Amino acid sequence: MDYFPAFLDLHDRPCLVVGGGDVALRKVRLLAQAGAIVTIVAPEFSDALSHLALQKNLQVNARKFLPSDVLGNWLVVSATGRPEVERLVFQCATDAGIFCNGVDDVANCSYITPAIVDRSPVIVAISSGGAAPVLARKLRGQIELLLPTGISRLADLARDWRRRVSDRLDSLLARRRFWESVFDGAAASHAIAGEIQEAEAKMGDLLEEAGADQVGEAWLVGAGPGDPGLLTIRALQSLQTADVILHDRLVSSEVLAMARRDADLISVGKTPGCAANSQDEINALLVELVSSGKRVCRLKGGDPFIFGRGGEEAEALQLAGLKYQVVPGITAAAGCAAYAGIPLTHRDLSQSVAFVTAHGKNSVDNLDWKSLARDKQTLAFYMAVRRFPDLMNNLIVNGRSADTPVAIIENGTTPQQRVIRGTLGQLTLLTEAHRIVPPAILIVGEVAALGKQESGGATQMVPSCAKPDYKIGQIG
Ligand code: SAH
Repeated sequence: MDYFPAFLDLHDRPCLVVGGGDVALRKVRLLAQAGAIVTIVAPEFSDALSHLALQKNLQVNARKFLPSDVLGNWLVVSATGRPEVERLVFQCATDAGIFCNGVDDVANCSYITPAIVDRSPVIVAISSGGAAPVLARKLRGQIELLLPTGISRLADLARDWRRRVSDRLDSLLARRRFWESVFDGAAASHAIAGEIQEAEAKMGDLLEEAGADQVGEAWLVGAGPGDPGLLTIRALQSLQTADVILHDRLVSSEVLAMARRDADLISVGKTPGCAANSQDEINALLVELVSSGKRVCRLKGGDPFIFGRGGEEAEALQLAGLKYQVVPGITAAAGCAAYAGIPLTHRDLSQSVAFVTAHGKNSVDNLDWKSLARDKQTLAFYMAVRRFPDLMNNLIVNGRSADTPVAIIENGTTPQQRVIRGTLGQLTLLTEAHRIVPPAILIVGEVAALGKQESGGATQMVPSCAKPDYKIGQIG
C-alpha cells in the first residue's frame, strides 16, 4: 500500500492554502466544508476566491508566501501553479512535520486527495495513488450511481440509534447482526425513502428480536474455478457477511480477499498426497462453529455439489439440526471450457455432457466405460491427471476413437491457465510433454477441437516442447 487512507477531523483546526486562483478556490471550499479554519496566502486573488473568503470569514494574507506561514497548521495545500513556489511550500511544510499537498505534482505531496462521493455522514474516497486519476473519477461515477442520496438519512438514523442499541445489546456479535438486519431490510428502504417513522418502527421490532439467542447458520458456497469475476452475487454477499470462512485450498487468494475484513479465515484444504483435515474433521468443525452461533461460509472451489463433498457437509448439518443453505457456483468444467472457447454441447457434435471423476470412493475401474465411450457426448474428467493413462486405455478399448479430440485445461480461468489440445490417443504423451499438474480438467469429445480462437478472459497456450508440425495450441 503506497498511501494510508484516513479521514481527518479538521473542525476548528488551522489549515493553510497557498494560491489565489481557481484550483486554490476548490481546495479552500472543500477545507471550509470540513470545518477547517482556513488561511489563504497569495499576492493576488480571483474574485470568486475573495468572495468566498469574505462570505466564510477566512483569513487572507495578500502577499507572497513566507516559510513561517506553514507553522501552526495541520495541513498545507499549495496551489500556485508555480513549480518553484510549490517546492518551497512543500519543503517548509515537511521541515515543520506538516502534511502538504502540492496540487500539480506528486513530488510535492506528502498526502494526496481522493475523488470523493459525499453522502455525509457517509463519504467514499477513491484513489489510484496518483497512477490513474481519470480511472478514480470513473469509479466515483459508478459508486455515485450505486449510493442513493437517501443513504445519508439512513446513516443519520443509525447514529441516533447507536446508544440505544449498545445499551440493549452487550455483545459485539449481537450488535453487528442487529445492524446488518437493519441495513439489509425494510428499515433501510424506509430510511432511504425518507419514511423515518416507519424505519424507526422496524428498527424497534428488530431490536426486540435481537436480544434472543443468536442462531448460527452455514452457507455452502461455490467460489467458481478461480477467476473472482465468476463469483455469484450471493457468494459475495455470504463472503461479506460470514463470521468464519472455512475454505478449500483451491479457492483463489483474489476470492478470499473479498471476505469481510474481520472474518476468521480457516483453511481446511487438501493438497493431493498431503495430510490435511479429513472430511469427518471438516464436518465436525462446521457443526461446532454453527452450533456456537457463528455464521459460517463454507467456501469451495467450483460448485459445492459437484465433486465438492458438499452433500456430506449438508447431511452433517442436517443431522445436527442446524440451518444451512447452498449457494451454487460455476463448476470447473463449465468455467474452464468457456475460457478455452470450448462449448460443452453443440447441436452437431455433442448432445450430452458428463461430469466424471476418476477419484471417487470407487476406483476408476468401476466407471461404466461402455457408456462413457459412446460418441456424440462430451466428457469432463475431474481430479484425473494421475489417471489419464487408464482413462485413455479404457475409453479406446471400449470403442471411443483414438482420434477423438481432447483438451486439457490447467489452472483454468486464472492468469496461469494453459490449454493443451490433441487427441485421445495422445493423452499420455501430452500430459508428460507439457508436465500437466493439478488442478486440471480433461475435456474429451469433438467439441474439444473447437474454440481455437480463444475467447473472453482466456489465455492462449503455447506448447513448451513443440514438435516440428505442431500448430500453436494444437497437436497432430
Ligand atoms: N467442486 C469443484 C470440483 C472439485 S474437485 C467444481 O465444481 O469445480 C477438484 C478438481 O476440479 C480438480 O482436480 C480439477 O480437476 C478441477 N478443477 C478445479 N478448479 C480448476 C481449475 N481452475 N482449472 C482446472 N481444473 C480445475
